[in-house]
Amino acid sequence: MDDKDFREIIDLDETQEGRPAEKERTVEETSQKKDEYEDVCLLCRRPESKAGKLITLAKGICICPECMQKTMDTLQNGDIDYGKIPDFSKMPNISFLNLADLQNMIPQRQKVKKKKEKEEQEAPLDIRQIPPPHKIRASLDEYIIGQDHAKKVISVAVYNHYKRVATNTMDEIEIEKSNMLMIGPTGCGKTYLVKTLARLLDVPLAIADATSLTEAGYIGDDIESVVSKLLAAADNDVEKAERGIIFIDEIDKIAKKKDTHHRDVSGESVQQGMLKLLEGAEVEVPVGANSKNAMVPLTTVNTKNILFICGGAFPELEQVIKERLNKKTSIGFQADLKDKYDKEKNLLSRVTVEDLRNFGMIPEFIGRLPVIFTLESLTQEMLVRILKEPRNAILKQYQKLLALDEVKLSFEEEALEAIAGEAMKKDTGARALRSIIESFMLDIMYEIPKDDNIGEVTITREYIEHTGGPRITMRGVRALPDARMAGQG
Ligand code: ADP
Repeated sequence: MDDKDFREIIDLDETQEGRPAEKERTVEETSQKKDEYEDVCLLCRRPESKAGKLITLAKGICICPECMQKTMDTLQNGDIDYGKIPDFSKMPNISFLNLADLQNMIPQRQKVKKKKEKEEQEAPLDIRQIPPPHKIRASLDEYIIGQDHAKKVISVAVYNHYKRVATNTMDEIEIEKSNMLMIGPTGCGKTYLVKTLARLLDVPLAIADATSLTEAGYIGDDIESVVSKLLAAADNDVEKAERGIIFIDEIDKIAKKKDTHHRDVSGESVQQGMLKLLEGAEVEVPVGANSKNAMVPLTTVNTKNILFICGGAFPELEQVIKERLNKKTSIGFQADLKDKYDKEKNLLSRVTVEDLRNFGMIPEFIGRLPVIFTLESLTQEMLVRILKEPRNAILKQYQKLLALDEVKLSFEEEALEAIAGEAMKKDTGARALRSIIESFMLDIMYEIPKDDNIGEVTITREYIEHTGGPRITMRGVRALPDARMAGQG
């Protein structure tokens, strides 16, 4: 509940007298919620933990001692001739304000959650609570089809990462951070894999797009805005955010631009700017906003234990790999044909650090992403499995929707193959599946509720190929072969 809702409830209660119990409860709940968040100085915007104990002037209006002192100094320094009307514009931090207007000026989303007292602080992550790689992998299997290698690598890397966080060893054997670089064609499940992982581990996740990032000071999002996104995902709880995952998509778009004489503010500079974040640094991030400005409070987040996963399709990387492979084999008697690798599927899996460097990623950047792995492009067979097997598979979702109308929905195996075949043509991986199926299901979802007697609908290959209709079975009647639905002609 935000402040606005709260105000509405109070207003309502004040007009409808005779329900004091509810009012008390709401006030109590809200003040409890407010207690969890720090107050922020109205003038300098620093939270209480940074600015020191705040002086409360009126309900919700707080000023830090430093700003109060400055204000007093200004008044005492005699800048003001009390004989005349004081020129308030000369006085920093002072203007005519209606205190009542200020009460709700600092929205809840700009408040930082208080750090817990030392003894109250959660014990560092318990190693025994971290699921071992085979369990992480098994959970991923329920949602993600194929990508066996990627699932294995990610399970081990994540396990090691959280072991490192749990032990927090800074002795002579320091476990290195296992940030990852994921390479795979569009729609093959990169984002889905990370989202599923964050949900399974119950850690906050921020998904950012590298294309919108630019060097600080230029139009676009600052690099540090990714951390502020994570903070928002963790409900402004700094400790929770410091154990989260940041996924940066489209990382191939920040490759060094070739043949450019201008400053590369969205390419190489972004890679440079990300170095310290990837390694672990204390960064000052705005709370509740994407960019720093005078109106938003700042807080410090340490990225040492944040797991960074970068992902990208790297479309031109195949060419770079091909060139390297061709160069290797084009000398001597055993020279291969130039087009030997043209037809090879999943050429991306042969990627090396050298290829990435040639592609335009700077060595320092790749060096900070020690776990590099690729995802395979989806085959038609995998697309069919994606339709029906995952826990929240699209087909299961439609079946559930129709089951609420007490209608059974089934799909012929050939129909699924036809849908997968259509999706393959679009070349956008599994992303095409939903749009295709949605267009076929529209008529069914529209027509079925019209007739209470329909008991079962079977989607046939003919229906997908526009040469027939779905098979409709009435309640208590045996299947009518190829019954056509109204509106299907
Ligand atoms: P990208 O690789 O471009 O990030 P996404 O992860 O966003 O692709 O995939 C788009 C959608 O396709 C996901 O939301 C998911 O439903 C589905 N999908 C993609 N790959 C798989 C997979 N291997 N298993 C199950 N579903 C998948």
